[in-house]
Amino acid sequence: MIRETNFQEVFIPEEFDEEQLMIKNTCEDFLDAEVRPNLDRIDQQEEGLMQQLLDKAGELGLLSVSIPEAFGGFGKNFNTSMLVTDAVGSGHSFAVALSAHTGIGTLPILYYGNEEQKIKYIPKLATGAYKAAYCLTEPNAGSDANSGRTSAKLNPEGTHYLLNGQKMWITNGGFADIFIVFAKIDDDKNLSAFIVERAFGGISMNPEEHKLGIKGSSTRQVFFNDCPVPIENMLSERENGFKIAVNILNIGRIKLGAAAIGSSRKVISQAINYANERVQFKLPISKFGAVRYKLAEMATRNFAVESAAYRAGQNIDDAYEALVTEGMDPSKAKLKSTEQFAIECAILKVWGSEMLDYIVDEGVQIYGGMGYSAEAPMERAYRDSRINRIFEGTNEVNRLLIVDMLLKRALKGELDLMGPAQAVAAELMAIPDFAEVEEMPFAYEKKTIANLKKAGLLIAGAAVQKLMMTLQKEQEILMNIADIIGAIYIAESTILRVEKLFHLRGEEQVKGQLDMARIYLQNTVDKVYLAGKEALNSFAEGDELNMMLVGLRRFTKVQPFNIKDARQRVAKQLIEANRYCF
Ligand SMILES: Cc1cc2nc3c(=O)[nH]c(=O)nc-3n(C[C@H](O)[C@H](O)[C@H](O)COP(=O)(O)OP(=O)(O)OC[C@H]3O[C@@H](n4cnc5c(N)ncnc54)[C@H](O)[C@@H]3O)c2cc1C
Repeated sequence: MIRETNFQEVFIPEEFDEEQLMIKNTCEDFLDAEVRPNLDRIDQQEEGLMQQLLDKAGELGLLSVSIPEAFGGFGKNFNTSMLVTDAVGSGHSFAVALSAHTGIGTLPILYYGNEEQKIKYIPKLATGAYKAAYCLTEPNAGSDANSGRTSAKLNPEGTHYLLNGQKMWITNGGFADIFIVFAKIDDDKNLSAFIVERAFGGISMNPEEHKLGIKGSSTRQVFFNDCPVPIENMLSERENGFKIAVNILNIGRIKLGAAAIGSSRKVISQAINYANERVQFKLPISKFGAVRYKLAEMATRNFAVESAAYRAGQNIDDAYEALVTEGMDPSKAKLKSTEQFAIECAILKVWGSEMLDYIVDEGVQIYGGMGYSAEAPMERAYRDSRINRIFEGTNEVNRLLIVDMLLKRALKGELDLMGPAQAVAAELMAIPDFAEVEEMPFAYEKKTIANLKKAGLLIAGAAVQKLMMTLQKEQEILMNIADIIGAIYIAESTILRVEKLFHLRGEEQVKGQLDMARIYLQNTVDKVYLAGKEALNSFAEGDELNMMLVGLRRFTKVQPFNIKDARQRVAKQLIEANRYCF
């Protein structure tokens, strides 16, 4: 929001090396061989099947890509684990089970466990010998997770905490051996976290939930009835549980974005295949502009979110390397590096899940009646997608977090938001800059991004100044601001990726990507204008409002662009390749 990024600073997925691509291929082969032929059996929750699949994934090393070698893993960086999540993302319920196990199930121990805890649990989690679940949500504590009532009481001997309470919606609950459980000790204000083995006893469950989608993923209510947990199984320190929950969710969020990319890539390919095969009015439906529009828009949105996901993934890796070089303990550095990019993690959760929902919806539409049939793949994709806007923090909660975290960082002096915002306000009072944009490649796109950032700063700055402490309660305005920040981040990432590709491969080779970046930018400009107008109209009035609306219009002004032709060109490439080809 406050400075320009150079394309050389960003990582693009085209830069993955051979080894990383080999890992990705292994995941895809695994899905083709073991998961896709069994999707119905998985959704029927055939006894033992999910555990067997996780065991096989463990044998191939798919559960331990980013676990350090000392604990039986491959020690790969964060972006490689993003690539694995992406590659497995189209595995429907299996992808959810694997993600819950490797992410929210394993990472609390890896990042917050002491040496003994890591030695005891991580190697078994890495192979899949132990399967993990994460128990935070309760019937009365969902988004407000810290209000959970599950209690932990030290026994008279001082050897065990006795856990009592009820957890809800627990993924992998039906078969997990290890539960990361969040509970309050005595009258503590904050949660503490515990590693709980099923074998400890005192754990019972309700039957499987009947769900709209991801029917093959085990989801249970879990009851703790005087469940005895040895004191050495507390994770980190007393009352540090909420922090653990939040930090682990940062990683879960960005990975959810990665999984959404993998799912949508598959759906787009299926939709292209179908559009090429299905003949109506004596023509394949892929010849019709209305269908081509959908295919191009689906590919564009996926390409855009993918650009941002791997940019942020590499940022996390780079921050980690820098912190370790400064002497920070590697586990702490892992957390700190993700925390630094928590805003990006939330953006990727929201934009990834909404992108996927759009794509499966259009996928159903392209399949027509067959889109509604359980005989064809879109029906499952449509149902399975929907959960992504709900778990790992609902999209509303994540939107609120995006703005909240940004403002908190500004208040703490970690970033100067108000300085640039005031500069934009001053620019509005000055004579507009009519200088021609340079004739350099990407100069126009970069100027547009810079202007969008000015629009964002204008609105966020004015909202902070006008509403002060009450802004926190003005959720509609916060949603507008989050929409602006997220959309700019994704659009900028897309432009930077294509600019880098342009320099790496030359213009001829990246025409489709360039079209997509411009389509996305055009859409973003319109979204920023709409969200900005809505926000300004709701907190400003009179001359001040008029002046800011003029400013908003100035910063969202674009040259005429034939978006229809651009979409036609993107669609042509997709249709000729008969798959998602970017
Ligand atoms: C299939 C499935 C699997 C899951 N797996 C797990 C798991 O493994 N472990 C686990 O701990 N949890 C899990 N969850 C729980 C999940 O994380 C919660 O459902 C989610 O956090 C939302 O909580 P809630 O359902 O209580 O909704 P609520 O918090 O009641 O929210 C209801 C609505 O109100 C909105 N809302 C709530 N608070 C605010 C606010 N402050 N401002 C604005 N809007 C607000 C929400 O955005 C939402 O639209 C899972 C859920 C499902 C459905």
